[in-house]
Amino acid sequence: MKVAQKVAIVTGGGGGIGGALARKLAAEGARVVVADLDADAAAAVADAVNAGHPGSAVSAGGDVSDAGVIEGLIAQAEEAFGPVDLYFANAGITGGLGLDVDEDGWDVAFDINVRAHIRAARLLVPGWVERGEGYFVSTASAAGLLTQVGSAVYSVTKHAAVGFAEWLSMTYGDKGVRVSCLCPMGVNTKLLYEGKETGDPLGVAATGAVLAAGEVIEPDQCAEIVLAAMDAEHFLILPHPKVLDMYRQKGADY
Ligand code: NAD
Repeated sequence: MKVAQKVAIVTGGGGGIGGALARKLAAEGARVVVADLDADAAAAVADAVNAGHPGSAVSAGGDVSDAGVIEGLIAQAEEAFGPVDLYFANAGITGGLGLDVDEDGWDVAFDINVRAHIRAARLLVPGWVERGEGYFVSTASAAGLLTQVGSAVYSVTKHAAVGFAEWLSMTYGDKGVRVSCLCPMGVNTKLLYEGKETGDPLGVAATGAVLAAGEVIEPDQCAEIVLAAMDAEHFLILPHPKVLDMYRQKGADY
């Protein structure tokens, strides 16, 4: 899919991977709504994008766990640029570690890491089926394929994100809706080091396992890989080749 002139929403766009996606999309000629809980971070990314590609980006602050916020992002994109063609469900949190995470903690993590993807798909996919075109990219994680040492919440919610994206792909792939699921292992952003910074043995193990498993890539490399993979046959985008090997060792037929 060529992204020039397409209209994209990137959630978590104020962060490492989302910011890189927004910059790369604009460089390829797309128009982008950069959305983030941190409105200032989203605005800074949109400003940087517009400095290189004038008029290519607008920003929005808001929490993707609020269904109204996602509706608002779609309305903002339509008003600024036209109907949404591409949605990057990228906002995510690590969300705590072990069995001490309470019911509310699990709800928050499911809301951001999973339900926000479902909400966006419910709002966008029917229209894409009518138009015969649309692209949904879910940022899950290698932890959604291979349970990550340390964090139960992260692994469980990311497995759910992979499951939902795969279902979307199976159900709407033959109706013009492309779905990809980005499953990186270590990307050099704030989120990668959060576990270690807690000082909690599970958190230290979570970050340590990723660092021990292989190279850490930069967000810009990750965005390059995502856009390059947009026309690929495979549903999973695995920026680290090692993830595929580990996934195969687990017995997955891929
Ligand atoms: P990051 O911390 O730089 O960016 C995450 C962004 O999401 C932040 O800007 C944050 O403000 C935003 N966010 C958090 N909660 C939100 C909410 N409720 N509503 C809107 N925005 C919200 O981290 P990142 O590495 O760029 O993370 C992006 C995605 O990549 C996440 O889904 C993460 O789980 C996934 N991922 C990251 C790595 C890694 O090693 N960095 C590996 C695998 C997957």
